[in-house]
Amino acid sequence: MRIGIFGEGSDPQCAAVAREAAALGADTLYIDSRALDEGKPLSMLDGKTSYQGESVDDVKGFYVRSVPSPSVPAMKKDESLVLYEDWFTTFTQTRERAAYFLAWLLQLSHRGATLVNGPHAASVMQHKPYQLHALRSLGAKVPRTLISNDPAAIRAFHAEVKDVIYKPVMGGAVTRALDAEALERLDAVTASPVIFQERIPGDDLRVTLVGDEIVSCVAIVTPEQHLDFRDDPVYSSGEAMYREVVLPEPVQRFCRASARACGLTLAGIDLKQRARDFVFLELNSSPIYMDVELKAGHRISRAIARRVVEGARA
Ligand code: ADP
Ligand code: MG
Ligand code: MG
Repeated sequence: MRIGIFGEGSDPQCAAVAREAAALGADTLYIDSRALDEGKPLSMLDGKTSYQGESVDDVKGFYVRSVPSPSVPAMKKDESLVLYEDWFTTFTQTRERAAYFLAWLLQLSHRGATLVNGPHAASVMQHKPYQLHALRSLGAKVPRTLISNDPAAIRAFHAEVKDVIYKPVMGGAVTRALDAEALERLDAVTASPVIFQERIPGDDLRVTLVGDEIVSCVAIVTPEQHLDFRDDPVYSSGEAMYREVVLPEPVQRFCRASARACGLTLAGIDLKQRARDFVFLELNSSPIYMDVELKAGHRISRAIARRVVEGARA
């Protein structure tokens, strides 16, 4: 019996899940998420899939570390990013590869395979505006939020809320304060909408959920206060500490229900906590968790492996 891991062979989380699966008696078939970039053969013949010449249709449980997406064919030149000269070819090729992988993952899930996580959850349901909607409609606390490309609406939101942060809709940038300097540049948002939020004080919590089980809940401890904890040099150098946190039962229920609403079997949920107040920020479909696993001793890889092996055996 074997499980599949879709990701990069060198990824420590993939290796840890494979180790835990072995302890449960399952072998691992690695499907490299860069396979197509590297020209490794992945074929579907009348719906039967083979990878590097080997049939993979027996695999019924997968840990999907990442879902490929089209990449921007840009390179660094004189401190700024410029497109490759053949950017159009590169972009359409990466888009085609991503589409093929996505369709294959959808096919697996349609055939009843267990995917941790499935392709919807790992792509479109990952966008923050949808997640905030899901959390809000469950009754979970979220920050007051304006998502807009309208400078006037943003100024009005700032005048009312006062302490405001901003961050991108899709991600890829750290959270910043909407200060006087940022308010000067508001016309830039007409190019693409941005998330503006009431700044929530308190500790940063990371909850890791597998199925209905809260496998880990920690506060991220950094020596100094930063708006985004990733700005702290101690965090970036891998020396963050974690303090174990026990969530009140209603907050645990919101974690489970919001993960379900976002289609997530595995979720890394970010919250802010001050005293008895828990405010939800977002859910991540492929959380980076090795540091927490090693330092706090929370067996996240084992929980993922169990889930995938169970699916593969069903
Ligand atoms: P992502 O991690 O996907 O970039 P988050 O919403 O988790 O996006 O924001 C990153 C970090 O920025 C959070 O963990 C938190 O430390 C800080 N942050 C984001 N939104 C707020 C907010 N409304 N109030 C206070 N801090 C915030
Ligand atoms: Mg986050
Ligand atoms: Mg995130």
